[in-house]
Amino acid sequence: MNGQDAGNPRAALPAHAIEVGAGPLDRPARDSVGGWPFLDPGQEWPVCFCGERLALFFQLDVPADLEPFGGDHLLVFHCGAHNEAADPGLAGGRLVPRYWDAPQPPYPRPFWRILLQRQADLPAAEPEPSVCALPLTLRPFDDAPDPRGIGAQEFKLGGTPSWAQGPESYTCACGAGLEYLCQVPEYTEFAVRPGLPEQPYSVGADTYGLFLGNEIYLMACPAHCDPAAVWPVNQHF
Ligand SMILES: [Zn+2]
Ligand SMILES: [Zn+2]
Repeated sequence: MNGQDAGNPRAALPAHAIEVGAGPLDRPARDSVGGWPFLDPGQEWPVCFCGERLALFFQLDVPADLEPFGGDHLLVFHCGAHNEAADPGLAGGRLVPRYWDAPQPPYPRPFWRILLQRQADLPAAEPEPSVCALPLTLRPFDDAPDPRGIGAQEFKLGGTPSWAQGPESYTCACGAGLEYLCQVPEYTEFAVRPGLPEQPYSVGADTYGLFLGNEIYLMACPAHCDPAAVWPVNQHF
């Protein structure tokens, strides 16, 4: 656990459960596990430091009621061959400049890329080759926090994070306070095409996980200073 315990400065965002359908998905969809990434014009498919294209785990359109991110398109990419916990490498209480490209010991650069795109009108020509393409749907739900200020431990967009190890807060390199946007529960696994090399430390064969299976709280820059200005807080029980 890293960062200061400053609590949530803003009221909780409306909550949407992220539900993964049975699929398969055979054409581009803006809300999907795997599938055809919708990227801004000029935004290349992100690549790991190892040279491999990062796998698209999921993407979705952020509903309009989740200000300041309403209308953004969120994409979560992570390497299928590299798997670690994210290390925030703070500098003077802030995330370091261009933290989305900063070293991730023992690696020279991150093994993930999380993007908020604002002009993502067209799908890539080809789908994600490893993670199985499945439909995603968002279902509004009441994520009223409990007396400790803890929300539901769900795969969800908005709402109140359930903080396995207590709240964390981060200041973006641009000076804005990052704001919680999305939670992926601990040990969430994503089905991949059979026969791929096993991802290190993943729970099952034919699945990939994110950040060693840590619970993930995506915190994004409300100033949108860079499409990659999203920090994946990692915690575990
Ligand atoms: Zn890699
Ligand atoms: Zn920023």
